[in-house]
Amino acid sequence: MAAVSPSVTVDNSLVSIGTNWARYYEYAATTLHSPSTIDELSEIVATAPKIRALGSRHSFNDLADSAELVSLDRLPPDIRIDEESETVSFSAGVRYGDLAAELELQGWALRNMASLPHISVAGAVATSTHGSGDRNGTLARAVSGLEFVTATGELLAVTPVDEAFDGAVVSLGALGVVARITLDIEPSYEMRQQVYSGITWEHLLDNYDAITARAYSVSIFTDWSDDARTTVWLKGRLDERALPQDVYGAKPLADDVRLTEGSAQNTTRQGGEPGPWNERLPHFRMGFSPSNGDELQTEYFVPRQDAIAALRAVRALGDRITPHLHITELRTMAADSLWLSGAYGTDATAIHFTWKNEPSAVLPLLPVIEAALEPFGARPHWGKLFASVRRERYPRLDDFVALAHDFDPNGKFRNTFLDRNVF
Ligand SMILES: Cc1cc2nc3c(=O)[nH]c(=O)nc-3n(C[C@H](O)[C@H](O)[C@H](O)COP(=O)(O)OP(=O)(O)OC[C@H]3O[C@@H](n4cnc5c(N)ncnc54)[C@H](O)[C@@H]3O)c2cc1C
Repeated sequence: MAAVSPSVTVDNSLVSIGTNWARYYEYAATTLHSPSTIDELSEIVATAPKIRALGSRHSFNDLADSAELVSLDRLPPDIRIDEESETVSFSAGVRYGDLAAELELQGWALRNMASLPHISVAGAVATSTHGSGDRNGTLARAVSGLEFVTATGELLAVTPVDEAFDGAVVSLGALGVVARITLDIEPSYEMRQQVYSGITWEHLLDNYDAITARAYSVSIFTDWSDDARTTVWLKGRLDERALPQDVYGAKPLADDVRLTEGSAQNTTRQGGEPGPWNERLPHFRMGFSPSNGDELQTEYFVPRQDAIAALRAVRALGDRITPHLHITELRTMAADSLWLSGAYGTDATAIHFTWKNEPSAVLPLLPVIEAALEPFGARPHWGKLFASVRRERYPRLDDFVALAHDFDPNGKFRNTFLDRNVF
């Protein structure tokens, strides 16, 4: 197979381009391009019959896959802060941890981050990846500009004044390759993180709203079955209310807690020690691997007003879930207007499962969990494993399909995942 441009990494059909981060999904693509300039990127996209962008490979399904893939890893990060508009723009393949370190160095901050700083901004935004916080939207909500390389190889800027903006942010890679992203930023801030252990399910469900409102970002970890394994993680800003001594009977832990196997060093500092936002908002530290990747992930967004009923419905399945689970995390997020976002039109709670690497036990459980969450209109996380998507859960899905036809009339960026779940 001939190279499309001199900078392209070329594989032939006998060579695999490898797997996702968790080594669960093997990409079917046989060519992985790695341009080092926007011109090369444009030429690659214009020439390829079928192509999609590959981010940092942290999704768990075939969402990113195509005949050819293009990575932005070799493009210079080109991080530019605009103090006037309080925005930062950068090459879309930049990872959150690298962007955050540069922002912090310059006295600026993001409003929120996901658990993992290693993921690419473009890949996270494309799937409505989120952190937590009743007042914080998904990470995609911070987007204030995108620059696409469209199917013809042309550059197209999309900003909030464009009618297409709300459809173009959470794009699932279906509209083109996002080459640059602009995010809203704010002055840097400091935070404390404290983990509380010993909350009972009864106290958790009776006080869920008060608990998630108790700090800037709140995560609840549980294995569904055992009260003693449920912990509440509060991440508070130093310029807001101090963290409490007690969360409905749960007491602060003095030592840092591990989330995965391995050293506690891979988690950001807990114990209430003050530190910069980018070293407290993610659970994991940038310089360390979060785990050996021996896991699967699933997550469902449910409307906030149904959170407690949804949690009761999943807890009723606890006996079937717990044996195959590493851990569940519950997080909250504010509503947004991004058409394919899990929080479109509603404040939401996200119910996440980090499963053991046992696909033959886990995959049959997904339709069971989805049936339990059916009354609440659950939306699956696009980048994780799920059984099916109910199209009616996305009131603007038909508009998104029309937008994708406008951007990409010949379906260059369509793939099996999109045909199955969106088109
Ligand atoms: C350990 C771990 C922790 C995680 N933590 C969280 C979390 O806290 N919160 C959460 O919500 N999710 C979380 N996720 C899921 C993860 O954030 C999403 O799967 C995200 O999409 C991964 O981004 P990526 O760069 O790896 O994208 P990939 O998996 O490489 O691709 C995902 C999608 O993005 C598209 N894409 C990537 N780059 C571009 C581009 N430049 N232009 C257009 N489209 C593009 C791809 O085509 C594909 O459709 C986690 C995953 C792992 C493995």
